[in-house]
Amino acid sequence: MTQPGGPSPTGPGSPDPYPSEPGSSGPVPPGPGSSGSLQLLTLFGIPIRVHFTFLFLVVLVGALLAGTGEPAALAVATLLAIFGCLLLHELGHALVARQLGIGTREIVLLPIGGITRFAGIPSGGAELLIAAAGPAVNLAIAIGLALLITALGLPWDLVSESWPAALLVRLVLANALIFGFNMLPAFPMDGGRILRGGLSLVMSEERATQVAAGFGQAIALLLALLALFGPAQNLLLLVIALVVFFGASQEAAYNRTRLMVRGRTAREAMMTRFERLQPQDSLEWATRLFLATHQRCFPVVDAWGRVAGLMDRAAIVDGLAKHGPQVAVLEVMRRQVPAVSPDAPLGEVMRALQVRADLPALVIDGEELLGMIDLDKIMRFNEVTRRLP
Ligand code: ZN
Repeated sequence: MTQPGGPSPTGPGSPDPYPSEPGSSGPVPPGPGSSGSLQLLTLFGIPIRVHFTFLFLVVLVGALLAGTGEPAALAVATLLAIFGCLLLHELGHALVARQLGIGTREIVLLPIGGITRFAGIPSGGAELLIAAAGPAVNLAIAIGLALLITALGLPWDLVSESWPAALLVRLVLANALIFGFNMLPAFPMDGGRILRGGLSLVMSEERATQVAAGFGQAIALLLALLALFGPAQNLLLLVIALVVFFGASQEAAYNRTRLMVRGRTAREAMMTRFERLQPQDSLEWATRLFLATHQRCFPVVDAWGRVAGLMDRAAIVDGLAKHGPQVAVLEVMRRQVPAVSPDAPLGEVMRALQVRADLPALVIDGEELLGMIDLDKIMRFNEVTRRLP
């Protein structure tokens, strides 16, 4: 399972809505959901993180295998190899995205699979290719290993005398399962994105999302019926059905909001009354504003009215811990500023904000700061405007 960009693609050829400020070189802070995860290594310049719940999986599998008399080496090798296959799946997404000009912020491995967070938002044909790349890796591994087992004349046993043979057979099965699961044509699986990417080549992006979401819900109902009444009654299938159903519903609801804000721009929905900071303000002053207002984020604007950076909760808390209250805001602010143009279509701003739901975007015209916008603001705008005649 992956998360290419936000839950939804942008229109064809739309640029990364969050360009980083030129000259900024600070590390990209982890996106939402990567808290509770540990960075293991960096591959192709992409941070690879493992969520702590992955440890539960290790313990669970260990407990299940303890009673079966399974050789410990085989159990460990199986787990590590499947972990490697999940990582290759995500790298498949990330490297194809890179070929298409979309960077990857990070890969997070969870017990249920992995999440690849992109810096941009793929659409149409690009979404199709990027989504297909992950399952294609697992299909290739399964076919390759099956050919190897046949060529070497090894037995097709999950438990055999020589454990490397059993490991190969298990990996064929695991990769076939990862492939099958991800190819379910429903959000949030890769299959759902492949379907939408394909459909959006022949119809509008909104219509493609609607059709794909409806298809996903139908698949979910079918899976639920199968789980409850079919020959293969099982709980896991029911859980998958629920995940798929809610994934598809969320996508459909999100799509409806997007249709409602069609033709609207960032300028119409942005907030214009908010506190600003100056680069030479002390962190103490920033902390006071943080406590005294509802604002989660404070633009840092210099004497010439140019946006120099952004102070958010993390910058304030980390700054206090590392430097104390007397340090200047300039020293601790974020220099990567999420920015949108005032004439950016609201639907596109929504998609950008979904990728980084923890930060609002600044509405900047040339160098001048006009306002700030976040998802809550867009929802409010939507609630009000749809009730106006
Ligand atoms: Zn995937």
